[in-house]
Amino acid sequence: MEQTFDVLIAGAGYAGAVCARSLAEGGKRVLVLERRGHVGGNAYDCPDEAGVLIHQYGPHIFHTNDSRVFAWLSRFTQWRDYQHRVVADIPDEKGGRMRYPVPFNLTSLETAFGPEEGKRLGDKLIAAYGAEKKVTILELRQNPDSEISALADYVYEHVFVHYTMKQWGQKPEDIDPNTTARVPVFLSRDDRYFQDACQGMPLEGYTPMFQKMLDHPNIKVELGVDALERLDLSGDVLKVDGVPFEGEVIYTGQADELFRFQYGPLPYRTLDFRFETLEKDDFQGYGTVNYTVDQDYTRITEFKHLTGQVLPGKTTIVKEYSRAYGGILGEIPYYAIINPENNALYGQYKALADRFPNLHLLGRLAEYKYYNMDAIAGRALDLAETLLAK
Ligand SMILES: Cc1cc2nc3c(=O)[nH]c(=O)nc-3n(C[C@H](O)[C@H](O)[C@H](O)COP(=O)(O)OP(=O)(O)OC[C@H]3O[C@@H](n4cnc5c(N)ncnc54)[C@H](O)[C@@H]3O)c2cc1C
Repeated sequence: MEQTFDVLIAGAGYAGAVCARSLAEGGKRVLVLERRGHVGGNAYDCPDEAGVLIHQYGPHIFHTNDSRVFAWLSRFTQWRDYQHRVVADIPDEKGGRMRYPVPFNLTSLETAFGPEEGKRLGDKLIAAYGAEKKVTILELRQNPDSEISALADYVYEHVFVHYTMKQWGQKPEDIDPNTTARVPVFLSRDDRYFQDACQGMPLEGYTPMFQKMLDHPNIKVELGVDALERLDLSGDVLKVDGVPFEGEVIYTGQADELFRFQYGPLPYRTLDFRFETLEKDDFQGYGTVNYTVDQDYTRITEFKHLTGQVLPGKTTIVKEYSRAYGGILGEIPYYAIINPENNALYGQYKALADRFPNLHLLGRLAEYKYYNMDAIAGRALDLAETLLAK
């Protein structure tokens, strides 16, 4: 088969699409193969049967301090100003429930302990650490004042430990001893989930942003095509469609799958999303409510709060259930389980990839790590720049 492209990209998520556009603008002819029937990777959004714009693979909120990435993406979308706010919903001592902002802050303190007691504790924390500071619960635990160290235990128990165990199926300490140490208490009334300079949602949604990005005369996208059926890494040279290929290949799928799981599968957590459309304007008043103490699901997201969509009498929510990824058909690996053993296994696959100088592993699956959208977009821009400079 004649090769009419200079670069082959597997995957049309952030990693693949950002690289494709950058390389195309640098004069490269790019072929993008995407296994799914749509572009956008896990950031894909679409209207559901009720007409509510939903995020098929979980809620995605764009936030960044990287002005280069923000300016670059802004070529393909306008933005809706959206500041994400999350509350924890927990049982209270009177048999009811209460909600307070997470990350835990001065408002949370007053809700949890009552206005007066909460304010007194808040003043004490500010006197010790300063206003507007993020203090980790490890730091609080080390404070000789028993009220302050008891507060660390409260936050650990009510906001952190059960939620983390639902998410990862393990105690936080078993995942990474430093995880607990990093949980912050924010000595502020700023109840936004992120404090990044640029935050928002693509005005028309993520999918149109990706469609515009990939709409370039030098880019051809083939949907519903598995790159593994076109790539051959069994010999000394990389082949595409059975023919040696000297152009660049950017692979954004799973590294273990690329090499037929020859060292065994890389462990992941997957998520089950249960969508429900309700006959009401508003279900929960917030974009996301975290269930940090009880319930089997970790959180509920109500999309209309994120997207700003006006659709009277209907709203769609999604409940997220986390569990181990079994690698069976239809399951999606969402979160790499990063620990020394799994990193070493990943290193074996990376070494196989490194045998081919024109093969580049890029993205959350190919690199076996967690990236926010801005971070992977930045990495993709860097890789494209490096390849164009070659
Ligand atoms: C539940 C959840 C919520 C998130 N929320 C946020 C958020 O609020 N803000 C934020 O910044 N980030 C968020 N993220 C992170 C975000 O999803 C990632 O940054 C982003 O998806 C990474 O893009 P990617 O291109 O590396 O991977 P992906 O989006 O997974 O894209 C990879 C693409 O490659 C395709 N592919 C794989 N193998 C092959 C193959 N063999 N052939 C062809 N195609 C293939 C896949 O079908 C997929 O479309 C969230 C992640 C999760 C799991």
